[in-house]
Parts: sequence; C-alpha cells; structure tokens
Amino acid sequence: MPKPSDILVDSLGRKHNYLRISITEKCNLRCSYCMPAEGLPLMPKKHLMTSDEIYTLAEVFVKNGVDKIRLTGGEPLVRKDFTTILQRLSSLPVDLTLTTNAVLVDRYIDVLKSCGVNSLNVSLDTLQEDKFLTITKRDEFQKTLQNIQLLIREGFHLKLNVVLMKGFNDNEIIDFISLTKELPIALRFIEFMPFQGNSWDKSRLVTQNEILKTAANHFGAHQLFPLEMEANATAKNYKIAGFQGSFGIISSVSNPFCDTCNRIRLTANGKIKNCLFSNDELDLLTPLRDNTFSESLISEVVSRKKAVRGGMTSFEDLKNPKNHNQNRSMLAIGG
Ligand code: SAM
Ligand code: SF4
Repeated sequence: MPKPSDILVDSLGRKHNYLRISITEKCNLRCSYCMPAEGLPLMPKKHLMTSDEIYTLAEVFVKNGVDKIRLTGGEPLVRKDFTTILQRLSSLPVDLTLTTNAVLVDRYIDVLKSCGVNSLNVSLDTLQEDKFLTITKRDEFQKTLQNIQLLIREGFHLKLNVVLMKGFNDNEIIDFISLTKELPIALRFIEFMPFQGNSWDKSRLVTQNEILKTAANHFGAHQLFPLEMEANATAKNYKIAGFQGSFGIISSVSNPFCDTCNRIRLTANGKIKNCLFSNDELDLLTPLRDNTFSESLISEVVSRKKAVRGGMTSFEDLKNPKNHNQNRSMLAIGG
C-alpha cells in the first residue's frame, strides 16, 4: 500500500495536484462537438454525487496533495445546489475555479466572489450570433456576451476557450485574437478532440501550426511574442505587441502535453478518471456509500495512467474510432 502522500503520483512520477470535478451531465447548451448527436440519457439523480459526497471525496484528494479544484460538467451552473457545493469546497485550502458557458453566471457573481473564485474559464466558439445558434442550438449569444463583459467589469480573470473546427469558425481566428487588443483576457484556442458521438474527423482539426501561421500572416511574425510557459500549463501562449490580453493554443491532439500532466478527474457519478482520453475509470461513489472506500482505489487508477493520451500514442491510434468511441462524451467526462 503506497504512503498516503504518494497516492497521487503515477508510475512516471507525475504528481496530480489538480482535480477537476464534474458536478452534472446536464447542460443548457447543445454544442455539437461536445454533446453526442443522439443526446445523453439523463442519469438518475441518485447516481450523482451529492454535495456532501463531493466534499468528502475532495477532502481526501486535498489531504493527499491536491491544491487546485475546478468545477465543470455539463454546465456546472445548472446544478441547483451549485452554491452549496462551491461554499463547502471553499473551506478547503485550494485554488477554486470553474469552467462555464457563462449563460447563468450573472446569478452567481456574489457567490463566486465570496468563495474566493477570481479566475474562470468561459467557453465561446464564435463571435457571430447565427453561428452560435448553429453550434449550441440555443439562442443565448447575447446573454453569453453580456455575462462575459460583466465578469470582466467585476474584475474576474478570464480564460476564453474556443474550440476551433475547420470550415466552421477557423475564419474567426483573427477576430478572436483582435479581442485581446482591448480586453485583458487569456484567449485559448482548443484543438477539436475526438469523443464518443461527436463526429470527429481529422480534416476538421485546426492545428497549432495553422493558428500561428494565420496570426503571423495577419499581425506580422515580428509582432507575435511567445510568453513563458507556466509549469503544467496546457496552452502555449502568445501576445501581440501592445495588446492587453494574450492568446494560446491547447494542442491536445497535434502536440499533447501529457508529460507534465497534473490533472485527475472525478465524473458527476463519482468515477475517477486518470486521463481525458482514456476510458479507464473506477467507481469511488459506491464504495463511499457502502463504507468500503479506501484511498488505495485512487492510487490504483493513478498508477495505471498511460504516458500519452490514454495510451493512444500515435496520431493513427487517435484517428481510430474504435479507440475514442469507447470513451465517454466530453459532456459526461467534464472537460
Ligand atoms: N459547460 C462548460 C463549458 O462549456 O465551458 C463546462 C464543460 S465543457 C465540457 C468544458 C470545455 O470542454 C469547454 O471549453 C468546451 O469547449 C470543451 N470541449 C467540449 N468538447 C470538446 C471537444 N470535442 N474538443 C475540444 N474541447 C471540447
Ligand atoms: Fe454544454 Fe459546455 Fe458541452 Fe457546450 S461545451 S454542450 S456548454 S457542456
């Protein structure tokens, strides 16, 4: 049995101090790259971790070295007891944050502040209202924009996530980067990743190199400055000379950052996952409920984490639907 302090260290010596907890599989948007085309059957409520169970499991992780927790989903703000969950987790000594589509964020400004959340990841894939409707199937573009502006006014540090898909929004790369001229946001282009039911196809991928080339062609290569990478960072970041914000690229597909991965995930139904790309998961919730929970369960999953993308070492592996179709959809993992 490993020492408690080692249970979050894998066989390659990667230390997992960043826990991402999905608190729901429900969402108020229907992003085509995330939500499987056939929809997702609603999970019975009793299969979901309660706020107490989320806290209990989070406490175990924190005791063993986790110092950052991100709430995600689905859309975390659709969960009715979001405030309770956040308030309870805010008593732990962690950097607490969330990833949200921002549609409901105006209702939670005070709660976020009182719980010490000062940085959020917000997702927005287009700056065009009709395209927003196409990708999300919901008429929430104006609300999303207003809430992003509200968060900035209220002093939150924002990372803006944009999933790029060829032929859909790759013609907005410059428009997005131009936002960083006046806005102090960290824009991050995310490569489109394959998951169950999201019709991933290599031809729809916009790679890191293509994004950089587009930016350099428009703004001038000499105006593009790489920023220093933080430890465990997933984005390579750049700044255009004189701009307030920055832009980065999360190249999980074309250039993964697995060797410095410090992330571990808990799904809304209490399964621990050692990698976004892997279908390897272990139930922590049932043992917690029947009093057979042991920290060695966590260590078991962490220790068998694969070196790269859940074992899909080559691009050929990743392209093979047999590999990624066994994994959950992004909505059910918690991105
Ligand atoms: N509802 C919240 C949101 O949209 O920000 C949180 C959950 S969402 C699953 C978390 C992140 O995963 C979002 O930034 C979303 O764009 C990203 N995502 C979902 N499916 C993806 C895919 N197939 N490839 C790349 N990123 C994806
Ligand atoms: Fe919902 Fe976020 Fe997935 Fe869009 S990306 S469907 S907002 S969970």
